[in-house]
Amino acid sequence: MTEVTRTFFESRLQRRGLTALVPTMGFFHEGHLALMTAARQAAETVIVSLFVNPLQFNDPADLERYPRDFERDLEMARAEKVDVVFAPSSEEMYSEPPLTRVRVAQVEDYLEGPRRPGHFAGVATAVAKLFAGLQPDLAFFGRKDAQQLALVRQMTKDLSFPVTISGQPTIREHDGLALSSRNVFLGPEDRTAALTLSAGLFAAADLAEAGEREGGRLLEVASKVAEGVDIEYVTLASQNHAQPLAELDRPSFLAVAARVGKVRLIDNVAFDLVAGQVMADRGRRLERESVLYR
Ligand code: AMP
Repeated sequence: MTEVTRTFFESRLQRRGLTALVPTMGFFHEGHLALMTAARQAAETVIVSLFVNPLQFNDPADLERYPRDFERDLEMARAEKVDVVFAPSSEEMYSEPPLTRVRVAQVEDYLEGPRRPGHFAGVATAVAKLFAGLQPDLAFFGRKDAQQLALVRQMTKDLSFPVTISGQPTIREHDGLALSSRNVFLGPEDRTAALTLSAGLFAAADLAEAGEREGGRLLEVASKVAEGVDIEYVTLASQNHAQPLAELDRPSFLAVAARVGKVRLIDNVAFDLVAGQVMADRGRRLERESVLYR
């Protein structure tokens, strides 16, 4: 049975045993579903929060047209055996007006930070409120948003939230495009162009696994493959603080952001070091068309 809750209080009452939270903005795809599956395996109670968080949108038009379909999402959460779908109103999430913001220094200085002013304060504030209000033991986030993951890990540590953070691999469409709710806005030509972003990242990942450590070389390869897209940045950054790196000498990720048609896309491959060897996490590809297009 999946319960729908609207308040923090009634959500907390649903907790039994170890409780996992999956924070989302809804319009589910297999990336969200993979987080729910991982949460289901790890905890007795799974809470999925569904809230399109106005604080993290720096572009009002983006907020306005963000896809929403509560009934569709609820059905998918039921199929994943989620215990609680927490869908708060804006009033439940934010008092009028909210005066507190959580800011995580350094982590928001590069990549998405300068391009989306206020975005990460919006994310950190919302996640802090979900942690405080729902009191989960575990929380699941996608590596697709690598900088966000770094931010959440740092905030959790700094503020002593008793929550264990788990980062899960990026789920990709069958052609390699990282799943995003915004992919529904890509036309066929945009899609062809968008695919060169992941192709560039994979080419750089192959090079890194073959021993290349120079950041500049990895950026060059990823940028050269990308075509027909308006690149905002290609950056090698540390996993812990999302700081730019000249050398792949620690756990890191190669991140790209680009505009394709009307849509802004981000993607990355993560580089983990295992016994001194670079292991690239390219994520996982779906075998069939995503539920996004059903
Ligand atoms: P969103 O609804 O876009 O805020 O995303 C909710 C959670 O799903 C975040 O932790 C995202 O990092 C994660 N997520 C979004 N897209 C993907 C994906 N393609 N693969 C894995 N996780 C994802």
